[in-house]
Amino acid sequence: MDMATRLIGAIEAGGTKFIAALAREDGTILTQTRIPTQTPAECFPALAAFFHEASAEHGPISAFGVASFGPIDVDPASPAYGTFTTTPKPGWSGARFHDVLGQFGAPIVVETDVNGAALAEAQSGAGAGCTTLAYTTVGTGIGTGVVRAGKPLMGFSHYESGHIPVPHDRVRDPFAGHCPYHGDCLEGMAAGPAIVDRWGQSLSDLGSPADKVALIAGYVAQLAVSLVLLHMPDRLIFGGGVMKTPGLIPALRRATEQRLAGYVRADQLDPGLERYIVPPALGDAAGITGAIALGRQALN
Ligand code: ZN
Repeated sequence: MDMATRLIGAIEAGGTKFIAALAREDGTILTQTRIPTQTPAECFPALAAFFHEASAEHGPISAFGVASFGPIDVDPASPAYGTFTTTPKPGWSGARFHDVLGQFGAPIVVETDVNGAALAEAQSGAGAGCTTLAYTTVGTGIGTGVVRAGKPLMGFSHYESGHIPVPHDRVRDPFAGHCPYHGDCLEGMAAGPAIVDRWGQSLSDLGSPADKVALIAGYVAQLAVSLVLLHMPDRLIFGGGVMKTPGLIPALRRATEQRLAGYVRADQLDPGLERYIVPPALGDAAGITGAIALGRQALN
């Protein structure tokens, strides 16, 4: 069969909606649908029906790529690969993507949504040309995907960068923190819900006051510095709802450069970090683009 005709089934599984698409190997989307995230008993048959219909019209599906909310088993060597683990979402714990996609007889790659977006940005977004890229989202939660040579890195599970400890000056910031596990970890201090819990509104709704923006930038910079020291990425991308706050990316660049204190010297780290710390390029398309990229991995 001609390479260009191989078809990929892609799923962006989010907390409120699923986007499912049938795409050509080159990324061209032939058809797509949106399914509300109810229970697997409702979602999975709707997914199967969509892919059967799309396949009947366009041809057989050669691979599936899934970029999903978690926690989910993303270890291809695990017998539970593709299974939701401890998610509080009713019905989803124990649900497995292979149960619905297996009937198509095509290989399946399952990754976290953040790793999917990281891969998409690395291939066709703000990380194009980078060998090692770290993509972080700061929104409802905080997570990082590190992609090296086209592959998301992991250990025995996907990374949990949102829960690293951060220095907490309780005089400057008396807020106790929002994380149910750690209180004042990074996510507990700097994710969207922590900001609203602390100040009653989002940073943007507060008018992006410089002192508050600098406080949040300081916490996020702790992650940026850690990513540099642990992974030496060619670039850091910071996206998600919180990062859209006016002034936050420039404040993050300043705080990161200050904390690195000139210790790491490399061409990648430009003075001012304007080329090094950047916003994402794909916006809302990153999710489904990432799922298609994962499907491409499953093909090969
Ligand atoms: Zn935490």
